Amino acid sequence: MRIACFNDHRVGVLVDGGIHDVTDLVDGDDEMAGLATELRVAELISRFDELRAPIVERVALSTPIALSEVRLRCPTPRPRNFWAAPRNYATHGAEMVGTLSAGQGTPRELGLFVKGGGSLADPDGPIELPPLPGRRFDHEAEIGVVIGRTARGVSASEAMGHVFGYTLVIDATMRLTETQREERTMRKSFATFSPVGPAILTADEVADPGLLTVRLWVNDELRQEGSLSDLIVDVAGLVEMASAVSPLEPGDLIATGTPAGVGPIAPGDEIVIECEPIGRLRIPVTERSW
Ligand code: MN
Repeated sequence: MRIACFNDHRVGVLVDGGIHDVTDLVDGDDEMAGLATELRVAELISRFDELRAPIVERVALSTPIALSEVRLRCPTPRPRNFWAAPRNYATHGAEMVGTLSAGQGTPRELGLFVKGGGSLADPDGPIELPPLPGRRFDHEAEIGVVIGRTARGVSASEAMGHVFGYTLVIDATMRLTETQREERTMRKSFATFSPVGPAILTADEVADPGLLTVRLWVNDELRQEGSLSDLIVDVAGLVEMASAVSPLEPGDLIATGTPAGVGPIAPGDEIVIECEPIGRLRIPVTERSW
């Protein structure tokens, strides 16, 4: 099942023919639900065991709304924790050797970093590049792990039981120069630098996460391709690492790292990122207007 957010924080199930609205199933007769629209998807994730059957019934019995009639929104709108893994594919680590970068090694040595929640963007973007002449901005194609159950200090062997599902993330990045060496968190947290979506593919439909393959094109040129089986620290290991720092909550997001082929983007470019069972995003790159 692919869980999506659309319009003004409505939640639904994405299918080939459109989207089934399940907002009322999440809200039920809770009088407070209207106050918590931003948290609806976290509510759906938290109570998914109980909501799954009525949602499956809704999908079977209702007509989906055409995608042309809705606006898809970021399916992880308010993660309490938004972690990301540096250099988690050997091929990307290799291409960074000799460049200016924040550190050498793998996530085992470097740990995880955080991306600001303010960088999250809807599935259709755009990615808006700030007006900083001479700075290079790169795309990073990543698969995101969405947490389903509170995870505090979980071991890798327990970790997959805390995973709700998988989504697509672009980890847009401003690169260092010889004289400009800002913290990674700042360089990756500009507004719109983290488009997510189009939906969260629930883990029960992913028999082997290692088979999830992400591809990214810029202006129809294939730039990146990699599978979760290529990760240096796998999904369970990433959940273990993040949950050792601070408890993870339903709806939290971990970007798993990017394969080789990272390259520059500029206003006017169009990025396409795809993972077949999750979906596809088409994202324009623009210049920020402010
Ligand atoms: Mn990254």
